[in-house]
Amino acid sequence: MCGIVGFIGQEQAAPILLDGLAHLEYRGYDSAGVAVISAQGKLQVEKAVGRLKVLSEQIHGGADLEGCIGLGHTRWATHGEPSENNAHPHMTDDGNIVAVHNGIIENYMEIKEFLQERGVLFHSDTDTEVVAQLLDYYYEGDLLDAVGKVLHRIEGAYALGIVCAEHPEQLIAARKDSPLVLGYGDGFNMMASDVTALIK
Ligand code: GLU
Repeated sequence: MCGIVGFIGQEQAAPILLDGLAHLEYRGYDSAGVAVISAQGKLQVEKAVGRLKVLSEQIHGGADLEGCIGLGHTRWATHGEPSENNAHPHMTDDGNIVAVHNGIIENYMEIKEFLQERGVLFHSDTDTEVVAQLLDYYYEGDLLDAVGKVLHRIEGAYALGIVCAEHPEQLIAARKDSPLVLGYGDGFNMMASDVTALIK
């Protein structure tokens, strides 16, 4: 079982995401990644295989990624080897939506085939990528509506964090049979797979 951290507020998100992920390291993981929406509305995604320290050094402790909303993830591979391509967050081809996931999407193969028949190209071996690609398939401007449609299609255990470049005011969390807690702050909100990531 690995980790998810999400942040939305007025502070730079990336250092907070890295700190939250560090508190989830005890859960075990093989790779890590973060996604942050910049003030210009661009989704920036960084991933690294191995220790969180590698990712942190790659983005200078988070300093390289500007923006006040984002997601962090530590992965424990269930579908697909530990690699940069398979690490989360998974982003849609147009760079508009990213998703992070803990758990297993049981019916991912059926959804993957459905999307491939409609010309969607997959870039990883994970079950998780179907969530991002299905969001792209359903998204018509209303993120929450697209998420609702995706949740009706997927089966299995999941904690999900989702953000969309077109909606930098929305940090979406969803869970079924996998832990995910929400932290309501003064001027900021967070999500995490364990409260240890929120305490500080
Ligand atoms: N099943 C997903 C994967 O293999 C998520 C694993 C996890 O919980 O980190 O990428």
